[in-house]
Amino acid sequence: MAVKKTVRYDFQSYTQYATRPLAVLIFQKITTSSLKHKILSHSNIPYLSNKLIKMTFCYKLLLFALSIFHFNNSIFSQEKEYQITTQKVNGTVHMLTGKGGNIAICSGDEGVFMVDAQFADMTDKIQKAVGDISKGPINYLVNTHWHGDHTGGNKYFSEQGAKIIAHQNVRKRLSTEQHMKAFNRTVPAADEAAWPDITFNDENTLYINEEDIFVFHVDNAHTDGDAMVYFTSSNVLHMGDTYFQGKFPFIDLSSGGSIKGLLEAVEQALFICDDDTKIIPGHGKLSNKKELKEYQTVLTNVLKRVEKAVNMKMAIEEIQAAGFTKEYDDTFGTGFISSEKFIDMIWTDLTREK
Ligand SMILES: [Zn+2]
Repeated sequence: MAVKKTVRYDFQSYTQYATRPLAVLIFQKITTSSLKHKILSHSNIPYLSNKLIKMTFCYKLLLFALSIFHFNNSIFSQEKEYQITTQKVNGTVHMLTGKGGNIAICSGDEGVFMVDAQFADMTDKIQKAVGDISKGPINYLVNTHWHGDHTGGNKYFSEQGAKIIAHQNVRKRLSTEQHMKAFNRTVPAADEAAWPDITFNDENTLYINEEDIFVFHVDNAHTDGDAMVYFTSSNVLHMGDTYFQGKFPFIDLSSGGSIKGLLEAVEQALFICDDDTKIIPGHGKLSNKKELKEYQTVLTNVLKRVEKAVNMKMAIEEIQAAGFTKEYDDTFGTGFISSEKFIDMIWTDLTREK
């Protein structure tokens, strides 16, 4: 019988978490592969959005109370002063990097559509970087999920006139107090100005700058409110924190995330991508389908090994000592989620009460 280890995520980057006693995990599967061609033709997205990702839903009730952690300003606060770097991606889309999650900017005659907003103390720099790309107003801001390194700028940009769009669970989490059990800490609700103005459940399509921008939910992946954003004309996909380029990802289990849901999300992303698609990860450098496939392979391999060990009733200490990540320790294990922490997250996910 596996003995539950006292999990210590002292990865400085995570100091915030939330708990839910009960969660419904919905694992989505794409069943209509024939629609792939239509997606790649970048046409008639609103029609497709109802049909293209036709999913079957497998519901799992999970009873759990866990402590998981979240990016916090503190990891960055003692470090250098961060700057925003702008990189042209393709077509109407630029990527901004700085402190926190990667930002996508779609600019054109109709103004600016933005994905994610990093931290509140970066907003002046973000605003200036956006101004260097476009003189138009920021009309829309999509949040890929609720974490503060992606939504910290919400209040500022909302007050500047942007409409914030996100999955309904992002609004729920930003608008309510979150209890931080591991640190015995309570995080108050965000300022109301930071809450999403427009929410969706499955998907949303916006038309701006001659892009049909397809925003779609992936269930229980990094959190329970993840969205990906696909710029159809420019063929650019922003994956939020379902994708940490070249590194093991953080999965916020207590916000409804799961390793299997994350791999489902990756599968959906691969379904949309072709060899020319530019992929903006939540964290890390601009990427592509080939690298995303490698990420999928690595995560799948580690999951299979840990799952097999769990089924054999190996204790976490034995699993940690088994070398399940050894060929990835010097690559995927060098981010802020080390190999040990990644295995620990998978183990916690697989062994929590269901
Ligand atoms: Zn995140």
